[in-house]
Amino acid sequence: MAACSAPTGPPASNPLQRELEAATSGTGSLAHLRKLQRIADQNGGNRASPGPGYDASVDYVVGVLRKAGWQVSTPEFDLDGDRIRNVIAETKTGDSDRVVMAGAHLDSVEDGPGMNDNGSGSAALLEIAVRMGGSPEVSNQVRLAWWGAEEVDMDGSTHYVETLSRADRGNIALYLNLDMVASPNVAYLVEGKGGCDEDAADGSTEVARVLTERLAGTGVTPEIIEFMCDSDYMPFMDAGIATAGAFTGDDEKKTPKQARRWGGQAGEDFDPCYHASCDGLHNVNVKALDHYTDAVAGTLGYFALSVSRLSAR
Ligand SMILES: [Zn+2]
Repeated sequence: MAACSAPTGPPASNPLQRELEAATSGTGSLAHLRKLQRIADQNGGNRASPGPGYDASVDYVVGVLRKAGWQVSTPEFDLDGDRIRNVIAETKTGDSDRVVMAGAHLDSVEDGPGMNDNGSGSAALLEIAVRMGGSPEVSNQVRLAWWGAEEVDMDGSTHYVETLSRADRGNIALYLNLDMVASPNVAYLVEGKGGCDEDAADGSTEVARVLTERLAGTGVTPEIIEFMCDSDYMPFMDAGIATAGAFTGDDEKKTPKQARRWGGQAGEDFDPCYHASCDGLHNVNVKALDHYTDAVAGTLGYFALSVSRLSAR
């Protein structure tokens, strides 16, 4: 790995980034989260895939996206005989040879409604999709994904990447993952250092840096950490695509230094309801959701106008 201590220059900024950050809000994300909670309540208390809570979540997301003018498809994959849908949404505008992509897993575990994990990432992405609309003035096409069966073994994202043609994989400039962006005892983290089985593609550091800058722009001091190697960026990393992860912590404990920086309780889990039945709406950190909604919107807006920074270093 190259040293990461060099000055990074001015923060990434352009008009679409600023416009999207101003337009999106945690309040908007929270409205979608409330719908997902209701869906869980009506389907045995969870949104696990395969399952009816997941199917209803897909239907909800697809409805919102179509109304907002996106091109939407729901490609299916097979999981032990069950057919499960991913949701893929694309802008009608922008160059499809340079796709700027973001995704979040839409399924929960069977033990709970999955509001922080990962209703939060799903809802933030949906809020961004609504504010961006399906025909923004962009140079690069924006593609958003809501994945099934992440909680099984990242099956939805893995199937998606593995069934793309070599050319289509090469057309994806970057993939930004959202998995848990509203942990109650929050850590403002960006996964973007190192790699997993192999090092992440070179541009990954830049994706992480831009998200970090945009988070800083919302008034928090984020930390870039090593990839946890346990979410839907894995198949993209394996395919050599630049990637980073937005993440506010799961069942690891907050350090005293982190508590001084971000508030909250040192020595306690970032999310005490991780993968548990108590991961409901009351478990959601609305402030964290707001920071990440704006910062991810800004990051996508920035790269939708230019991805030159990915290869500039
Ligand atoms: Zn998750």
